[in-house]
Amino acid sequence: MPTQSANARAKLVVGNWKMHGRLAENAALLQAVAQGVGELNADVRVGVCVPSPYLAQTQSLLEGGPVAWGAQDVSAFSHGAYTGEVAAGMVAEFGATLVIVGHSERRAYHRESAELVGIKTQRVLEAGLTPIVCVGETLEEREAGLTEQVVADQLDEVLVKLSVEDAARIVVAYEPVWAIGTGKSASSDQAQAVHAFLRSRLAAKGAAVASVPLLYGGSVKPDNAEELFSQSDIDGGLIGGASLKAQDFLAICKAAAATGVAG
Ligand code: PEP
Repeated sequence: MPTQSANARAKLVVGNWKMHGRLAENAALLQAVAQGVGELNADVRVGVCVPSPYLAQTQSLLEGGPVAWGAQDVSAFSHGAYTGEVAAGMVAEFGATLVIVGHSERRAYHRESAELVGIKTQRVLEAGLTPIVCVGETLEEREAGLTEQVVADQLDEVLVKLSVEDAARIVVAYEPVWAIGTGKSASSDQAQAVHAFLRSRLAAKGAAVASVPLLYGGSVKPDNAEELFSQSDIDGGLIGGASLKAQDFLAICKAAAATGVAG
């Protein structure tokens, strides 16, 4: 992944644009983010996951700079008669290095199962890209005391399909469904507790897997980013709404840099 820093443990901040953007506004946002990250001159890794039709534009504007880019989903197949689908290998041709898989919006609106998310993760790794595997519980599940069980089941369906070497190449994003797009972030204590639990599940797969980046996502904003990123098992953030405003996204990147290296 192209990064601003050679330090592999620097915190990682990735924007998820969701289904937002048009050519003109993308250009302004990408240029502002690239310039702002360059000027941060700080130890932080930054990426943006854009709608797939904009990968070419994103590549042309970000190539050679400090910001990585990627897609928000890929097909479970590598090629074939799957109308409307985009293969991981196609995403890779546009210089992308990141792909979000298993976002809760895809699990909810497209009925993506934990098993399908595991298969997509395999396709992303085969294409030489970094999957950002999202896990998270609904409010009902949290209130029923099921948070750990839910995220463990989601993560295990992915890990079981991967070798230890491949598992060490993933990124995991803990995104409580009740915090996404709601303005109601998990508290830093709530997030840290789940991250520590996920870390132990990753460690059970193998020592090399224990240190994969664990991002928090769910209403991260400039005013709560530093507190969240200060937690010992939070290695950065997956940022939705705030990634569409250059000023907010850059403030979050700055908070990640201020909280130092992960771990
Ligand atoms: C997301 O969509 O991954 C996300 C975290 O959204 P938001 O930051 O808007 O809650």
